[in-house]
Amino acid sequence: MAEQLLNYVNGEWRRSAADRFLEVSNPATAEVLATVPISPVSEVDEAARLALAAFPAWRRTPATARIQQLFKLKALMEEHFEDLSRSITLENGKVLDDARGEMRRAIENVEVACGIPTMMMGDFAEDVARGVDEYMIRQPVGVAALICPFNFPGMIPFWYLPYALATGNTVIVKPSERCPITLQKAFQLLEQVGFPKGVVNLVNGGADTVNALLDHPAISAVTFVGSTPVARHIYARASANGKRVQAQGGAKNPVILLPDADVALTTSIVTDSAFGNAGQRCLAASLAITVGEADKIFVPALAEAAAARLVGNGLERGVQMGPVISPQSKARIEGLIQKGLDEGGKLVLDGRGASIAGGENGYFLRPTLLSDLPVGGTIAKTELFGPVLGMMRVDSVEEAIQLVNSGEYGNMACVFTSSGAAARKFRYEADAGNIGINIGVAAPMAFFPFSGWKNSFFGTLHAQGKHAVEFFTQTKVVVERWLGEWARKF
Ligand code: NAD
Repeated sequence: MAEQLLNYVNGEWRRSAADRFLEVSNPATAEVLATVPISPVSEVDEAARLALAAFPAWRRTPATARIQQLFKLKALMEEHFEDLSRSITLENGKVLDDARGEMRRAIENVEVACGIPTMMMGDFAEDVARGVDEYMIRQPVGVAALICPFNFPGMIPFWYLPYALATGNTVIVKPSERCPITLQKAFQLLEQVGFPKGVVNLVNGGADTVNALLDHPAISAVTFVGSTPVARHIYARASANGKRVQAQGGAKNPVILLPDADVALTTSIVTDSAFGNAGQRCLAASLAITVGEADKIFVPALAEAAAARLVGNGLERGVQMGPVISPQSKARIEGLIQKGLDEGGKLVLDGRGASIAGGENGYFLRPTLLSDLPVGGTIAKTELFGPVLGMMRVDSVEEAIQLVNSGEYGNMACVFTSSGAAARKFRYEADAGNIGINIGVAAPMAFFPFSGWKNSFFGTLHAQGKHAVEFFTQTKVVVERWLGEWARKF
């Protein structure tokens, strides 16, 4: 019998009374790894009330003491690094090295949040009027709900959790029901750290569980990462309920390839970006726009590099690409490839019907490359979230930037060139929040914000670093005068 995942509420592991459970399977083998409860509204209500009850004491704990818990957490995450990384590969399918990279990013956010005593300091101005001083302090907002996607089950909760806790908030995390196992393991570490009861809580579930979080009056802040339609829903519903919200959505990331780009390096970087994590990254290169003669160089070069990628079980040494998350996802991607062909795209490399030795039950596709896509066609504008790179040709950098800016998403845009002038023009004009210059996955480090734009983001303050500190704190301004003999002299 597969393990039944538990919720962690008020410092204890609890079996959900859910009447609905989903199976969590290994996408490389279809083996069922666990069952996850779709926790009912009553369990969200209990977690939210207990998190609110824990807030006053946690808030009063000095920041210097709160971060001691994060130092312990960092040490435990280092100690269990391989186990957490392996768990990501098992439930998500990505190759073990990518899973390790993911956990490294998670830990980096814990490290940055250890600087909270400095990062949440306020401002002070003396004599704003005669004998009057004014200052601004940052205070935590209360209970924060963190709603997470399947594609980075170990990292994305940590884009928020360390900052929310360090600034004095209490937290409820809702992992993706498709990849909830790694967070369960991370919570075993959070339990060992010894946070006071109710400070960190885990509630498993699906859409109804999320909606209960969005509606709960005890919750003050909501963070979300996932697809754009759900991000839009989260932003609208939680803001209508008076909460502060940041909702990171989907993407369709273009990369511009100029004829003067370094061919070997660009080919290797773009292939990694498009096919790493089987294209299931919100920063995956998904549309390559070649300028001028660049298509003659890069269509064959990318096809050769993509065809050479070793596809298989991510736990096996040397494998460069694992499966996609589910059979439904595989069928959806295959359908979109066909649509791209029906709309006039050329099939340079076909990854459908992949047969992987030992992976007969897995949800595998091989890298797929489609060229000559029509402007405005389905592949050029739809988030595929699979190992498919579409290609289009234009005549100038201006045209390429126009094409980039015509897209509805704005998560990432990259340029590959040896011209500083072209790179600067691109950086200046591209409508995207994360820019790569000769970089294929422009993932911000933990001390920079993860800056999606347009339909890739709903809100003002982004994940990570200073933005997270601002998001999880509210500013209070104090204007102060003290009367007395001494003051009157001046
Ligand atoms: P998803 O939108 O299906 O699910 C994300 C979360 O929302 C899950 O916890 C799920 O339970 C919940 N959810 C799903 N449907 C809901 C509904 N109708 N109402 C309320 N809650 C609902 O996303 P996913 O498939 O898990 O993740 C992949 C998506 O996430 C891609 O679109 C990808 O681009 C995006 N993503 C974005 C970023 C970013 O930083 N912008 C990072 C990673 C992933």
